[in-house]
Amino acid sequence: MLPSGHTDYHVHTPLCHHAKGWPVEFAARALELGLSELGFADHNPMPERFDDWRMLREDLPAYFEAVEQARIQFPQLPIRLGLEMDYLVGREAWWEQLQAMAPWDFWIGSVHYLPEGWEVDNPKYLSRYRKSDPSVVWASYWRAYEDCIRSGWFDFVAHPDLPKKFGFRPEGDLRRFYEPAIQALVDTGLAYEINTAGLRKECCELYPARQFVELAYEAGVPVLINSDAHDPAELGAGFAEALQLLREVGYTQTVRFEGKRRIAVPLPVGAQ
Ligand code: ZN
Ligand code: FE
Ligand code: FE
Ligand code: ZN
Repeated sequence: MLPSGHTDYHVHTPLCHHAKGWPVEFAARALELGLSELGFADHNPMPERFDDWRMLREDLPAYFEAVEQARIQFPQLPIRLGLEMDYLVGREAWWEQLQAMAPWDFWIGSVHYLPEGWEVDNPKYLSRYRKSDPSVVWASYWRAYEDCIRSGWFDFVAHPDLPKKFGFRPEGDLRRFYEPAIQALVDTGLAYEINTAGLRKECCELYPARQFVELAYEAGVPVLINSDAHDPAELGAGFAEALQLLREVGYTQTVRFEGKRRIAVPLPVGAQ
């Protein structure tokens, strides 16, 4: 059991072709863990065939149906409906359509694609990353991340320092990358997530690094803890470590979402 008050809003489904466990299975696990709310955020569909790791446009009804099934089967658990949206320039007309398709609770803004045409977290591009200067890759990523925040389409942003996934980090103080993103969060009033998936990757660290969390806290930026589960076994994983970090840094509150409205609530209380 987790301390009471946790939510997990970054959860995938088999519709993205690289996750297992349907919403009913995640919901059953959420109740076992004592989560207060569960939220689905599968990889957003594109209007055309785009890549092999996201929901297809024609599977959207199946997504809504699967989330609805979980709500019917577990009425005691509030279940939120969201998407993990890839920030890509020039897709606004499609997002407009997508927005109108369901009563969304939240949209997460994510950057996986670099403007240079590759994916910073995809093992498929590891050799390309290995041959690159990490400071160039990071600069490109963080510029896109700032644009993602400032686009105004999203309720919070995912895994801030994702380009550290495989362990590639630029030399020196990383504040030069973090600060513009945090300023964008301040300017737009957006929240960011502590994503525990980093603990399960080569970098073996929460996304984002402690220094980012400290700067964001000082700037008054709201935060929430998510697992990025692609399997019910990953739900709530690493939450003790994430909660401890937030407490140490000084956070006393987190946020929830309902119908795109953000609600501030106290951090989970009690022993982990
Ligand atoms: Zn995924
Ligand atoms: Fe992601
Ligand atoms: Fe994800
Ligand atoms: Zn993600």
